[in-house]
Amino acid sequence: MVGFQTKMRYGIQAEIFRMIPGLQNAQFARLGGLHRNTFINSPKVLSADLKLKVDTRIRFAGQVTGVEGYVESAACGLITGRLTAAEALGGSMDVPPMTTALGALIGHITGGHVEAESYSGARSFQPMNVNFGLFPEVTVEKPEGVKRWRGPEKTMAKRRAITGRALEDLKAWA
Ligand SMILES: Cc1cc2nc3c(=O)[nH]c(=O)nc-3n(C[C@H](O)[C@H](O)[C@H](O)COP(=O)(O)OP(=O)(O)OC[C@H]3O[C@@H](n4cnc5c(N)ncnc54)[C@H](O)[C@@H]3O)c2cc1C
Repeated sequence: MVGFQTKMRYGIQAEIFRMIPGLQNAQFARLGGLHRNTFINSPKVLSADLKLKVDTRIRFAGQVTGVEGYVESAACGLITGRLTAAEALGGSMDVPPMTTALGALIGHITGGHVEAESYSGARSFQPMNVNFGLFPEVTVEKPEGVKRWRGPEKTMAKRRAITGRALEDLKAWA
């Protein structure tokens, strides 16, 4: 089952699916499971512009770099292509700034990642979707007349500030 990501054991999965009327005698060619990505150790082997450090003729793109997701993989491929094309034409191009979603993601995979402790205690670099935690911090002031933030107000204000800054910086980069 494509996209059926579960930790349920195969036997239990088959048992549950056979409870669905009409599937009592179904045979399952393939059951669900969590997917695992194959990816290189980008923080170590890639430069900030996605080149392989030991052979700079080679650039990497997409999920194999440690980004994850349709949009992230396609966007990473697009930037890699543009960087390479600019060089082939005798020019150069900057990677989008760290304050934009793509710049933050590329910055993360090429070295800026927070080294999380894995269960084994070893340092680990794991596939990453784009998310607000990758962007440089912003400070937000409470709106006038507001004594204290309520519920998710501060988080939402921060996210608005991050996206506003990203759009401005993206415009300047473009
Ligand atoms: C079960 C599952 C569910 C997912 N659900 C989502 C989702 O809901 N939303 C989301 O955003 N993302 C999802 N993803 C992640 C998303 O599919 C990937 O991040 C994205 O498709 C990666 O794109 P890519 O082009 O970088 O790599 P891929 O799509 O893996 O493309 C790499 C291609 O290279 C080919 N290749 C490999 N080796 C060679 C070789 N030696 N020579 C020639 N060709 C080769 C492969 O055959 C493949 O076609 C899911 C992934 C899985 C597995």
